[in-house]
Formats: sequence, structure tokens, C-alpha cells
Amino acid sequence: MKFLRFTNAQKKPVFGKYLDGSVFEINGDIFGKYSVTDIEYDYANTVPLAPCLPTKIIAVGLNYEDHAKEMNRTPPEDPMLFMKPSTAVIAHQEEIKYPGHMSNRVDYEGELGVVIGKRAHMVENEQALEYVFGYTCINDVTARDLQAKDIQFTRGKGFDTFAPIGPFIETEADPSDLHVRTFLNGELKQNSSTKNLIFSVPELVSFISKVMTLLPGDIIATGTPSGISPMSPGDLVEVEIEGIGKLINHVSS
Ligand code: MG
Repeated sequence: MKFLRFTNAQKKPVFGKYLDGSVFEINGDIFGKYSVTDIEYDYANTVPLAPCLPTKIIAVGLNYEDHAKEMNRTPPEDPMLFMKPSTAVIAHQEEIKYPGHMSNRVDYEGELGVVIGKRAHMVENEQALEYVFGYTCINDVTARDLQAKDIQFTRGKGFDTFAPIGPFIETEADPSDLHVRTFLNGELKQNSSTKNLIFSVPELVSFISKVMTLLPGDIIATGTPSGISPMSPGDLVEVEIEGIGKLINHVSS
């Protein structure tokens, strides 16, 4: 099933179920109790919101060998974790704001986003997928110059608008082999599969749950494949994941 969030006719943010170009309004919270109504919208006329509101985004660095290589780094022994603030989240079609007051190099990073469905604490690999609600596209936007300068990732990864997510949460995807592609102004830049992840989705959920409790709606950004490059104001960036959807954002100054 494909879920999204949008603004309904009463100007209220609500969840919806996407089906064949239509959106059916949902009563309630997809992470708790809800019902799908027969109030139907044309998807093309809806204004998308981020499909969930994570309390935190836990991102994984250097989780594809080819990306570690292009960064001249050795893949880490344990998943390398950092966080992006909830205030960085924007929706499909919202603008990534280029922080030109501090950075001169801002990159896209197309990634599979894992959406947590229930409170996860000290979960083992074998049970990990039971804690996953579904999957989305995420762009781990990065001020590469500041990431290098600061060593710590908080500033380089944490600007407002640096976490586009959506447009959908797909509940039925198999995360072991999903095609991930990123396009910049229509040109294919990243092209890989989650089968190339060094640490798999179950391993990541388990590992992170042994560090911090994951809450419903939290997102794990699973890492980016090779092919990173900078974006400029005016650019259009698209992160497409097989069976999930295509996340499209413009960069503005
Ligand atoms: Mg990343």
C-alpha cells in the first residue's frame, strides 16, 4: 500500500492512501488507528506534504563500497551513524534552499529511507523488519565543504530543507534489492541497488535500536551509492526508487 500526506479540502494536513492516480483521505494516524474514507482527490491536484513527521532522521554514512571509494574512505566496521534534525524535512516538490551564506558546495545523496512503524529498542536482526512500517525516498542533502571542515556532520547535514522525503511510503517493498537512481537536471547521476548496501536494512534497524529507541515515523537514511556531485540554485534533483516513487525537488537560492 502507498501512503502519503497532503492538505485536504478543509486545509487540514491529513494522511491519504494513493491508488492509481487517486488519493483517498484517511481518518486518523497511519502509525496508530485509522480508516480509509471514500473521500477521493485527484493526485495531480493535491499539494504533497512530507509523508510522515520523524522525531529524528538517523543517517548512515559510507554504506556503499563504491561511495566509500569515491570519498577515499575505507568502509567502516560498524554502521557510521549521524543525525539530521526534524526541521530539515521538506516534502516532494518543495524547494531545497541553498545556504549560500555558509556553503559553496551542496550535494544531493539519493537514498532509501526506512520508515519505522513501532517503538524499537534492542531489536535483533531476525525481528527487525517487524518494526518497519514502509519505505520512502530521501535526499540526504549535504554541504560537502562544511562536512569536511567541521569533521562533525551536524552543520553540513542539518540545514533547513536538507531532508526532502517522499512522495510516498510504500509498505510492501522488499528492501534487499531496490533500484536507486538520482537524476540532476534529467541526467542520471547515481544508479545502484540496495543489494549493494554494506549493512542491510535489518542490520541497520537492529544496530540503531541498540543505540537509541526508534519511534513510529522515524526515518533511517540508509546511505548513498557513488555518483555524488554538487547542485546549484535552479537545479532539479530527482531521487527514484523502484516500486516506491520519485522524489522531485528544485534548488533555490
Ligand atoms: Mg547520506
